[in-house]
Amino acid sequence: MDLPSPSDPQRFGGSLAVRLLRVIFGCYFGVAVLVTGIQILTEYRSAHRRLEADVQAMERTFGPGLADALWSYNTGVLHGILTGIVQMPVVTGVEVRDEHGRVIEGIDAPEARVQSGGFFDQPFTRDFVLVHIDEAKRPHPVGRWTVRSNDGIALEQVKGTLIVILVNSVLKTLALWAIFWAVVHAMVGRPLAQIGRFVAGLDSENLGSRPLLLRARGDHELHLLAQAFNAMATKLRGAFDDNAALLQDLTEANATLQARVEERTRALERLARTDQLTGLGNRRDLDEGLERAVGATEAGRRFSVVLADIDHFKSINDRYGHATGDAVLVACADLLRGASPAGGTLGRWGGEEFMLLCPDTDGTAAGLFAEAMRRRMEETMLPTVGALTCSFGVAELRAGDSVDALLARVDLALYEAKRDGRNRVVTAEGGPSADRRTAA
Ligand code: GH3
Ligand code: MG
Ligand code: MG
Repeated sequence: MDLPSPSDPQRFGGSLAVRLLRVIFGCYFGVAVLVTGIQILTEYRSAHRRLEADVQAMERTFGPGLADALWSYNTGVLHGILTGIVQMPVVTGVEVRDEHGRVIEGIDAPEARVQSGGFFDQPFTRDFVLVHIDEAKRPHPVGRWTVRSNDGIALEQVKGTLIVILVNSVLKTLALWAIFWAVVHAMVGRPLAQIGRFVAGLDSENLGSRPLLLRARGDHELHLLAQAFNAMATKLRGAFDDNAALLQDLTEANATLQARVEERTRALERLARTDQLTGLGNRRDLDEGLERAVGATEAGRRFSVVLADIDHFKSINDRYGHATGDAVLVACADLLRGASPAGGTLGRWGGEEFMLLCPDTDGTAAGLFAEAMRRRMEETMLPTVGALTCSFGVAELRAGDSVDALLARVDLALYEAKRDGRNRVVTAEGGPSADRRTAA
């Protein structure tokens, strides 16, 4: 799987600080709008109440004067009072009616005090009864007067305050955003990115070599996380080292074992080709030598074989016992080996028969080797049994000969040597040299 690299913030779709703040300030903005709205509404309502109180206060201030002017029908005074009332900022118009409802005098505010239109542009009127009190303290209703006003005036009065609230709110939001971003980025975003880069950069080489030291100050969960990663890296380093040491031990043990197995295999191979009694190569060794020789002769090389058989060996066993027979076999083997030519391979063919493989040797030369061996046997006094003799068959490998054909011919030559009186060398016919017999 292709994991994104923590050192590549693009692929992570922005920083944690920005994401956190988007959520926090999303909520904060909602709350701020609500609180500011409530604040604005509260300001507006208290301004409206002040406006109502101002209008209400006009009845006490101007009511008796207007009633007196109407009672005496002094329009000049009436007009003067109304003009004064209309000068007040909270008033948009005023009018006076007689007891029959006819308008005696009505004045509108000289200019529009309220921008028309808008949510807060709500005109309202307050109606007051005009009562004249004569000298005998008797009340005489003379008519009514009406004051017109507008909620928009209340808003105009608190407009400045509302703007301050709004600007305050916006500035607070922006300042908090900046501070929060800086704090969250420094305390959370940056340390997390540092941890991410550290973990991503871990490999078997640098594991546990240098601990992660958070640049962020403090001692909180992220430091705990960094410590946990350091502890993990140290443990992994230990496990890696243990594994490496284990692997080293295993490799060494394996090499030792392999060397031992190879040595044992060589020893077993040697053993498998060695005759236990005489220490010469055994039948298998000779067979392989013959196979190799036949292959080599096909390439044009010469090869001869000598088969030796101790004469009347059975009688040694019969006379001295089998153990002495064994000792005599060993002595004969040593003797024949000593008389073998350099480059020849002597082995025990079986029983009291030995074979000499003579590479690069023709039948004549092999016959001479056999003769030397025959002579050595004849001349050597062995312990207990004295001198023994040996018969020899010799054959040279012919072109196209198989191992079996060569063996058959050397067997026949040996048979002839036995038949002709033993203690002699017979070289088989058919080889490049003629059949010769050497008698004792
Ligand atoms: P020949 O001259 O015709 O070869 O007579 P021989 O007695 O040597 O021949 P024969 O084949 O009759 O007897 C061979 C004897 O060699 C028979 C066997 O007891 C003896 N022999 C074969 N192998 C061993 C051996 O490993 N140890 C001992 N002690 N005797 C063996
Ligand atoms: Mg024999
Ligand atoms: Mg024999």
